[in-house]
Amino acid sequence: SAKEGGRNNFQFYTPEMNEMILEQLETEKSLRYALDHDEFVLFYQPQVDIATGQIIGTEALIRWQHPERGLVPPNQFIPIAESVGLIVPLGEWVLRTACIQNKEWQAAGFPPIKVAVNLSARQFEQPNLVDTVASILEETGLHPQYLHLEITETLAMKNANHAIDKLYALKNLGIQLSIDDFGTGYSSLNYLKKFPIDTLKIDRSFVGDIPGDSDDAAIVTAIIAMAHNLKLTVVAEGVESQAQLEFLRAQNCNEMQGFLFSRPVPAHEVAQLLYEKKSLYFQSV
Ligand code: C2E
Ligand code: MG
Ligand code: MG
Ligand code: MG
Repeated sequence: SAKEGGRNNFQFYTPEMNEMILEQLETEKSLRYALDHDEFVLFYQPQVDIATGQIIGTEALIRWQHPERGLVPPNQFIPIAESVGLIVPLGEWVLRTACIQNKEWQAAGFPPIKVAVNLSARQFEQPNLVDTVASILEETGLHPQYLHLEITETLAMKNANHAIDKLYALKNLGIQLSIDDFGTGYSSLNYLKKFPIDTLKIDRSFVGDIPGDSDDAAIVTAIIAMAHNLKLTVVAEGVESQAQLEFLRAQNCNEMQGFLFSRPVPAHEVAQLLYEKKSLYFQSV
């Protein structure tokens, strides 16, 4: 009957959904706890200059040192932190920690390198984002040119006109801006041209099968050429093989990041690499 149908409709949650929601609530609770109890840690993945093989930057990548689950990767908790708003304080912690760390490497006497920090959509939308970044730079004493903020094209395009103003305000602080995962989102080249960005990061889904896959090879070649015409630096993500490296070098890609050079590692391992001054490029040959 209609009545029974109605009652059935009312029973909206399946047991599986219930379980999922409970799990999310559980994760949310433990994320809050983790933030208060310093359970997060930043790993840093070296970014390598294609000409010299030297480290010219790192990307800060968050991990959760969970007392029982061990080292939890970001894709298992960042989306939850984003959906419950915890990403805002968490993102601020990432930004501050990365700036302190980069300043520390400089204070130790290593040649200055940049640190790239990922921004989530929710963070980007915060009205006080620019002030937050400014005060963290001031508080940590990191020179703005050594901070890169990474945003995705989808995030930037979501409200493109507003994004342009915000990106200009960030640029006015003297920091660098990168478009992350380029090619995977929806982006308008018309806006891309108007955004005050410095760097395009080619998503690793295009890098994985070069040079063998001729479609991907064509896409990567086109992205690099376009970026250079727009006076942007190009970083290739997810470089895992010598053949990929050679192809990217032939296309004049500027920087590379990937397991071929180094996985994301704890800060002290970056210091060791900087200390050895070894070319990560030739080490792999
Ligand atoms: P992303 O910003 O695109 O970061 C690059 C991801 O690719 C990292 O995964 C890195 O470990 C992985 N990667 C690097 N080189 C290679 C390679 O050669 N092969 C393969 N297969 N993978 C490679 P990770 O650390 O698991 O981070 C995943 C995503 O989580 C990041 O993608 C970023 O979107 C997000 N994320 C990480 N840390 C933060 C953070 O502090 N804040 C925010 N909002 N998001 C973060
Ligand atoms: Mg990134
Ligand atoms: Mg990326
Ligand atoms: Mg990615």
